Amino acid sequence: MKKSIAIIGGGPAALMLAAQLDETKFDVTIYERNSALGRKFLVAGDGGFNLTHSEESEKFISRYTPSDFFKPIISSFTNDNLRDWLKGIGIETFVGSSKRIFPKEGIKPIDVLNAILNELKRKNVQIKTNHTWKGWENNKLILKTTDNFFNLKSEIFIFCLGGSSWKVTGSDGTWTNYFLEKGIEIIPFQASNCAYEVKWKNEFIQIAEGKTLKNISVKCDTNERKGELVITKFGLEGGAIYALSPQIRNQLNNNGTAEIFIDLKPSLTIEQIKDKFSARGNRSIKKLLIDRLNFDDTQIELLKTILSKDDFTYLEVLAGKIKNFPITITSSAPIDEAISTVGGISLTEIDSNFQLKKLPHNYCIGEMLDWDAPTGGYLLQGCFSMGYSLARHLNKS
Ligand SMILES: Cc1cc2nc3c(=O)[nH]c(=O)nc-3n(C[C@H](O)[C@H](O)[C@H](O)COP(=O)(O)OP(=O)(O)OC[C@H]3O[C@@H](n4cnc5c(N)ncnc54)[C@H](O)[C@@H]3O)c2cc1C
Repeated sequence: MKKSIAIIGGGPAALMLAAQLDETKFDVTIYERNSALGRKFLVAGDGGFNLTHSEESEKFISRYTPSDFFKPIISSFTNDNLRDWLKGIGIETFVGSSKRIFPKEGIKPIDVLNAILNELKRKNVQIKTNHTWKGWENNKLILKTTDNFFNLKSEIFIFCLGGSSWKVTGSDGTWTNYFLEKGIEIIPFQASNCAYEVKWKNEFIQIAEGKTLKNISVKCDTNERKGELVITKFGLEGGAIYALSPQIRNQLNNNGTAEIFIDLKPSLTIEQIKDKFSARGNRSIKKLLIDRLNFDDTQIELLKTILSKDDFTYLEVLAGKIKNFPITITSSAPIDEAISTVGGISLTEIDSNFQLKKLPHNYCIGEMLDWDAPTGGYLLQGCFSMGYSLARHLNKS
């Protein structure tokens, strides 16, 4: 006799879980509030579609917060395993110059989603769209369809409800109340992988809006990330700052502001910069920065807008600031604009197989749990690996 599994929410975590569950042991149905599955997955595909990252395993795992929670999960289904699995369903991938992994040229996000949905069809997974979960009634789930409510019975319930950004995709985090009613701890949602506010001077932003600071590295606390930063009216965005979200968020929570430090010339030491400055001749500082350090207008304006006149003109100090340029962040972008959120179900509420300790036979995976990772493939890999890992556990039972 097969057991019934009801999966609530139809994002990447749910899709991988359903694709990996043993169809000879389980009758699997996905209930999704939208009229189609994987809307956020498709939104993720709109920009650079980083399915995962090619980094080696130890470094890969260290990108997650908390990384000890993720170690067994990622090890059970690695970036290579994901690529092999995708290849098996007809989706070839390649490693980009950033070491991120993308679908091969010509393969659109919808093709990836359709390939996964075909796999679910092959495994007889039932899909019920326009079904919104509205809480529990005794041991059953209350589901709302377009025209009525009904109570759903199943031997196993698995929640894959996502985080709380880009609400238009269906992941709006309104489910937290249902878990709170059951005494399950919810950590308030906060933005991650998002833009951060800097109170730029008007004169600066008029010149610099939309410009990119390339080949830099950014530090917050002891964490440092190489990459790019885009200057916007709101502040700063881009891979290098997204990856520092945990540290920035911590400082914002504790102090109201956060300090980041940009190394505008990571390829040179401070001594090498001073050395380059020593042959100044009769150049202006601006000309010196252009000639000797290859700086562009944006970098020079950035130095001028934040540094005092004395610091900008005193070359000893300027060399130090170029290597360790301080910027104060005053807030994060609104949560709905963030690529991902932290918060949701506290990790202390689940056992090592994602089962809610207070509600046996109820499991939670994906972004609805309180964890963090940088964008660039780590978020999707985290969700896929959780889906795989839970399926492997249930298949063994
Ligand atoms: C703009 C953007 C770009 C991104 N780019 C990348 C990228 O390049 N690489 C990367 O790794 N990650 C990226 N991400 C993040 C990634 O898309 C998410 O981390 C991932 O989709 C989370 O998967 P999930 O299965 O946990 O939840 P989701 O994908 O959020 O899916 C949850 C599903 O649950 C449904 N649901 C919610 N509540 C209910 C309810 N009450 N009843 C029924 N159904 C419900 C929702 O409608 C939704 O379909 C990006 C995200 C955004 C917003």
